[in-house]
Amino acid sequence: MHRASPGSPTRRAILAAALTALGAPRALRARPSGSAPASGAGDAPGAAPPLQVVASFSILADLVREVAGAHAEVHALVGPDADAHVYTPRPSDLLRVLGADLVVLNGLGFDGWMPRLLQTAGHRGRVLVASDGIVARRQGRGHDPHAWHDPARVRRYVDNLRDAMASLRPAEAPVFAGRAEDFVRRLAAIDAQARQALQALPRERRRVLSSHEAFGYLGEAYGIDFVAPAGGALAESSARDVAALIRLVRHERVQALFVENIADRRLLERIAAETGARIGGTLYSDALSAPGGPADSYLALMAHNLRTLASALAG
Ligand SMILES: [Zn+2]
Repeated sequence: MHRASPGSPTRRAILAAALTALGAPRALRARPSGSAPASGAGDAPGAAPPLQVVASFSILADLVREVAGAHAEVHALVGPDADAHVYTPRPSDLLRVLGADLVVLNGLGFDGWMPRLLQTAGHRGRVLVASDGIVARRQGRGHDPHAWHDPARVRRYVDNLRDAMASLRPAEAPVFAGRAEDFVRRLAAIDAQARQALQALPRERRRVLSSHEAFGYLGEAYGIDFVAPAGGALAESSARDVAALIRLVRHERVQALFVENIADRRLLERIAAETGARIGGTLYSDALSAPGGPADSYLALMAHNLRTLASALAG
């Protein structure tokens, strides 16, 4: 394959150049052995070692695991509860990317730091833009990147992952197809349950405020109006913006406010206190929760968000 062996002069030269370009500390440049792939624990005798896959953020990494199972070792560059919009790659990310058979990004401008990282690392393996082929919602002058909140669109993500994995490991194509199908079945069950719960609520009650414009797709899919501060995250709002938000919450008769796992909750608490709107709970927008938390997989995230919304709106 494309990968040079860990100690080869080519690989060392590439790493040194890449790390220098990122301004890495000298100690790290001198010790480029951190990316040695882990041994394929749990493999059947004679099976190929797991593919090394790097995903830009935690939600995408979970989708890869769903499709690939034991056939891939997956690493998320931006982990649980962290904001991938503003991520600055670290030197260790270069090693991950350089050693990867497949790199997966969301696209639509969400993980806009990825192309430069790939270029700097000199990655020559496969790159998959998981959102390829979806019809994206317009947002401002560009597109809303948070397409994973729509179950119909995430099926396209999973199809893309299935096809990419199958092209890297053709012998395992039926395994990936079966796992993708199983995932879609479990997602459809969550979707059906949420639709039933939300349909019981009158349309004018389905109006909520969240910290940043992450839930356009979810709102469209389930008939919920998400009111969000225009063009940015709540945490960055000025005093004047806060006053405008309070007016908005009152005027739009917003039923509930939702904290996001990647954002500061203090501002929402202030708006809740001033308007009488309730805090409906925490929604997971751009990252999973830590393992063991309420949204530590994509399916758990969707089930949690939809359940939280439905019960807060039912009031
Ligand atoms: Zn976001």
